[in-house]
Amino acid sequence: MPQSPYEALMAEVRQIDLLGGTASLLSWDQETMMPPAGVAYRSGQSALLSRLRHERFTSPRIGELLSTCEADDALTADALSPPAVNLRELRRDYDRALKLPAELVAEFSRATSIARHVWAEARKADDYAAFKPHLKTLIDLLNRKAECYGWPEDGERWDALAEGFEPGLTARGVEAVFDPLRPRLVALIQRIGEGGRQPEDALNRVRVPIDAQMRFVRAVAERLGFDFSRGRLDVSAHPFCGGTHRDDVRMTTRFGQDNLGDALGSTMHETGHGIYNQSVPAEHVGEPFGRAVGLSIHESQSRLWENFVGRRRSFWRWCAPLLGEHFGDAFTGVGPDEAWVSMNRVEPGLIRVEADETTYNLHIMIRFELERRLLGGDLSVDDLPAAWNAAYARDLGIEVPNDADGCMQDVHWSIGAMGYFPTYTMGNLYAAQFFEAAQSALGDVDAMFARGEFGPLRQWLTERIYSQGRRYLSEDLCRQVTGGGLSSEPLLNHLEARLGEDYGL
Ligand code: ZN
Repeated sequence: MPQSPYEALMAEVRQIDLLGGTASLLSWDQETMMPPAGVAYRSGQSALLSRLRHERFTSPRIGELLSTCEADDALTADALSPPAVNLRELRRDYDRALKLPAELVAEFSRATSIARHVWAEARKADDYAAFKPHLKTLIDLLNRKAECYGWPEDGERWDALAEGFEPGLTARGVEAVFDPLRPRLVALIQRIGEGGRQPEDALNRVRVPIDAQMRFVRAVAERLGFDFSRGRLDVSAHPFCGGTHRDDVRMTTRFGQDNLGDALGSTMHETGHGIYNQSVPAEHVGEPFGRAVGLSIHESQSRLWENFVGRRRSFWRWCAPLLGEHFGDAFTGVGPDEAWVSMNRVEPGLIRVEADETTYNLHIMIRFELERRLLGGDLSVDDLPAAWNAAYARDLGIEVPNDADGCMQDVHWSIGAMGYFPTYTMGNLYAAQFFEAAQSALGDVDAMFARGEFGPLRQWLTERIYSQGRRYLSEDLCRQVTGGGLSSEPLLNHLEARLGEDYGL
């Protein structure tokens, strides 16, 4: 029987996905295994794969097949069926990919690869002046990209870029959730500061061997439900989760001599991403339907396992006794309560990636506010450091001593990723909402966690979120799972309750 247009389209899409998975494996290798001297040749390999993928995806044949399939009512009648979802997702990505002229794509790719390199050097030397002209170039290019993509009439250019990371995300929508969140977070952090009490950091002051730390965090990841027969855990400078598809998930973590709590937090975070990637629908591998929803929902799962499970008192009733098994008497005297307190310290700091669960969101809000102004033209790159430092003083009450630990600390802007940061905090918000819903469905989750039982929570999430693939857009999924749209209340309730207990507020 000849292939139908839909089968032909899916066959082509799955081929393109093979290129994507191969590129992802090369980048995993670059971060974990590759000798440093391999970088130049590897850049060539990666650039070739991304060009092949782009060319194949934007070919007229894809456009023709898409149009033919869209005209077939049998495929689109049920908007939530896998074929309809595949067509919806492909149409959006296809139209978007065609909106950029090839020379702008090439110019952007050249500019970001130079800017990323200059940024790394400039950050080491604390030399914002060296990075500044490259940032200016990227902002000009981003504005040109935004013009090509366009944005809704009541929106702004930031929206055009955010759409590439999270369909439907707009600055106004972000503002609506961030505005009520900011003053309550600032007030909460001030109350903690005024209390003058800083709990002991018992998990992060003990020197223990790295190989024992690796065995410990692996044991936890496995218990949470990460399947090591379909994935790996390795070490990289910046932890991430990638891989080729649901049966080959590569996650990484990092260790210090005396930072066990941080290593566990990073590992549980990536394990959340990893379990999600391992649990998308098997029968749709390589199709849009078989992928996770956008960045916010993905981040909600890493945050849920890291913060809502890993920083919960009941989790430590199960986990604290493991310390003795893995580290002998190195953690003598560190019981469930001491470990739990150590995992829940709140301390305003300079660096986003080292921030605790509470202050983290303020780091994100500052970036959102500044990148929106940079793109809109009412903040110049000359004035960025001063604006950054003023925002840190205002929201976190800290003085920024240099630009390396200030406006140059993140890689995102150096690779032209503006419109991305808010997805981290939205991940926190969704995590709080999903966890609340899971608790009311599952009953006493604390009794389960204390026994080291995470299967019921994982199954609940798999049924409602992971196995749904891309059926719903983020906010629709949230309504489907929780009965309501994105809201900042559950996260605030969670933080106020937890810190009330920990800090006696
Ligand atoms: Zn993450």
